[in-house]
Amino acid sequence: MPPSDKKIHTGVAYLGNRIVSHARRDLADIAEACDYVVHTVSETDFHYHKASLEKIFSDSHRQGLEVWADPWGLGGVFGGETFSRFLLDHPDSWQVLSDGRRVPAACLHQPAFRNFVREWILTVREMGADVLFWDEPHVYFHWDLEWAGTYSCACPLCQKLCRKQFGESLPATMNETARAFRLRSLRGFLEEMVSFARTKKLKNALCLYAFEGSDEYELIWNDLSSLKQLDVFGCDPYWRWPPRTSADPREHVTRFSKKVLTATIPLRRHSQIWIQSMRFPKGRETEIRAAVDAAARSGITHLAAWSHDGGAVLDTTLSEDPGKVWRTVKSSFQSIRS
Ligand SMILES: [Zn+2]
Repeated sequence: MPPSDKKIHTGVAYLGNRIVSHARRDLADIAEACDYVVHTVSETDFHYHKASLEKIFSDSHRQGLEVWADPWGLGGVFGGETFSRFLLDHPDSWQVLSDGRRVPAACLHQPAFRNFVREWILTVREMGADVLFWDEPHVYFHWDLEWAGTYSCACPLCQKLCRKQFGESLPATMNETARAFRLRSLRGFLEEMVSFARTKKLKNALCLYAFEGSDEYELIWNDLSSLKQLDVFGCDPYWRWPPRTSADPREHVTRFSKKVLTATIPLRRHSQIWIQSMRFPKGRETEIRAAVDAAARSGITHLAAWSHDGGAVLDTTLSEDPGKVWRTVKSSFQSIRS
């Protein structure tokens, strides 16, 4: 993917099906409108579906699709509606809140978790992945905790590292040191993973939450989007998320497309915008066309839809008319590619 590549790429997330013959039909359908597919590779896949996923990756290539692998919900650290066996197997690797409570998300500094993610990288590479899609990496976060100044992670290992790096302990409530340590933890973890992936000849794409209005988040955005080993950077500006809210799709997607391009153009990187293709109320599907058009007109190189078939596979993403959502995604993608 040289930076001079002016072509618009279109992709879609594919999840929830590990029956190869069924996937073959879906991939043929996807290839009519896309040139890449993002396969979620959860911990369940890692433990139980490697053989079928390897065939699904291979069939994706046969359809001319670039294969992206998503560490979906791994250790509760990435986006994904799935459970984590790593957390069951490693109760000592959980994050600890600054008030002492343990929370179900892996501490980014724990060697066991870093080793696990490295093993995941090697596994998806063996299966045939071309690009790793780092999906919304985050430390444990909850607005109520954040308002109270309670944060994560302040486990004994993080305490030790903070004292070493900043010369002071992590406090019970958020302060500047804790904020700086949190950012450094996230960056350090990702940097190690994308560097490792690069040495294995894999490309790296990072997606952050589309969020505005916090100085700290701006720092995270700037810091992570500038990681050296990234090939693609982007975000997911869903205009109907939470589902009861809604923004103007064209304005919302244009604003975040510009924000992404501000980060990617100076570094000659590819840019990505995710188009909401799930949890749609009936009759509003034409908004998808406006969002796709806005991202393409802004100059985004990689558009992607979450997810195939209008989100029908998950209760949390199901649209009222998922078939129509997917048909609209397909025709919108086909029209910008033609
Ligand atoms: Zn920790």
